[in-house]
Amino acid sequence: MLINTDYLVVGAGASGLAFADALVTETAAEVTVIDRRDVAGGHWMDAYPFVRLHTPSAYYGVGSLALGEDRVDQLGENAGFYERATGDEVFGYFIEAASRLTETGRCRVLTGHEYLGCGSDGEQIRDLSTGELHVVAVRRKVVDARYLEASIPATHTVPFEVAPRAQLVPVNALPAAARSDCSYAVLGSGKTAADACIWLLDNGVPPDRIRWIRPREAWFYDRRHFQPLEQVGAIMEGNSLDAEAGANATDVDDLFERLEASGRLVRIDPAWPATMYRGTMLSARELTALRQIGDVVRLGRVRRLEVERIVLERGETKTDTDVMHVDCTAAGLNNAPATPIFQPGRIVLQQVRHLSPCFNAALIGYVEAHRDDDVEKNRLCPPNPYASSIEDWPRMMSRTWRTEGRWLREADVSAWATQSRLNLLRALPDHASEPAVQIAVKRYLTHVTAAIDRLKQLDRSS
Ligand SMILES: Cc1cc2nc3c(=O)[nH]c(=O)nc-3n(C[C@H](O)[C@H](O)[C@H](O)COP(=O)(O)OP(=O)(O)OC[C@H]3O[C@@H](n4cnc5c(N)ncnc54)[C@H](O)[C@@H]3O)c2cc1C
Repeated sequence: MLINTDYLVVGAGASGLAFADALVTETAAEVTVIDRRDVAGGHWMDAYPFVRLHTPSAYYGVGSLALGEDRVDQLGENAGFYERATGDEVFGYFIEAASRLTETGRCRVLTGHEYLGCGSDGEQIRDLSTGELHVVAVRRKVVDARYLEASIPATHTVPFEVAPRAQLVPVNALPAAARSDCSYAVLGSGKTAADACIWLLDNGVPPDRIRWIRPREAWFYDRRHFQPLEQVGAIMEGNSLDAEAGANATDVDDLFERLEASGRLVRIDPAWPATMYRGTMLSARELTALRQIGDVVRLGRVRRLEVERIVLERGETKTDTDVMHVDCTAAGLNNAPATPIFQPGRIVLQQVRHLSPCFNAALIGYVEAHRDDDVEKNRLCPPNPYASSIEDWPRMMSRTWRTEGRWLREADVSAWATQSRLNLLRALPDHASEPAVQIAVKRYLTHVTAAIDRLKQLDRSS
């Protein structure tokens, strides 16, 4: 079968769908989105059962379809904050988003199809249910929406040896495997490990029966700084704290001390230096819960899990058959290096503004629709890889601020961003007269130029 299309988008995760949605909204182009998974939505299909968005639903997904109802939760750990969809809700949302794209008549979503690359007669894809090969004749561009494919517990390869009979459970299986008569060792430093610990605590496991094997200490944002709409002033306050810390930092350690002192970032145990920064967040209640876990093993990454012993990079520790080890070591965000987003015949979706994967994919779709020259498109959308450590923060923030400055000078891009539901700051103009917002905007404007200069000096990648 020969398929003709203007754009072939490889990957029907959040990025591929948000890009396709923007392109279909802004142009008359025909778009084909393919994914080797059986349904659209990317990694959410295989998410662990108790996952939720860590950011509010209000600015997640695709531009043309709301996720949730912008409710403020009244109860539970998210009380006072905007609702965050569960994994199942995100999964259902993307199926609907894909179906709506198909209903436009200009977008074909082929799930269960794998992209094989470019052959002599066009782009090659394989129907995974029949094994049939198809050729796709692409009139404009192939869009790589899998360059930053997420690494998740359900599909990653466990990065250490596991001896026969050692008890290792993937985090996805934790609710089904959990027993009242055992202890737990949670393996991993990031948000998934934190979620697993909180799930155990919420399900009545006493803190002294949880051991946390934490190779790195991580920084987390305070979730209150990511609340949009009526609480958008808190986002602006967070940005202004970033700018102030960036402008005054003498080095990277000093930078993080400033961010912590201002309440922008938190770490679980302030007695230990934290080197990991992934841009994830915790609420105050989650932080208090996690601080109850006192048995933390800080001997680096696990090398080998045995029945009675865990061998780590910098030593070993005892374990036993009554301990259920929970694997939370998948990387989550993909650390692929930056490559130009707009290339001849090709678009490689990546991050541009920090912490905004859906917004970035939609923005790239908008810029593709409204600019002709790849040099100009790349100027408006320079790649900005996900951060992994504190050393990445200066590059990530200075690139974000420089790029946002360029958008502000382009009237149409600025107008698009202001109305995009994926823009966490979209409600800022409506709240500009509030005293707290004015203070935050003033602090931000006072410091941002100096912060860009200072952070460029602290950026070891440049
Ligand atoms: C657990 C978790 C929670 C998160 N929570 C948030 C949040 O709250 N807020 C936020 O902003 N971000 C969040 N993120 C960041 C996350 O990266 C994005 O939300 C987003 O879902 C990533 O989508 P993606 O399309 O880039 O990648 P993916 O979802 O990984 O999609 C890539 C797709 O490409 C497909 N593919 C790969 N190779 C091929 C091929 N050869 N042929 C066909 N298809 C192929 C894959 O099957 C996959 O479906 C979270 C990430 C994780 C892992």
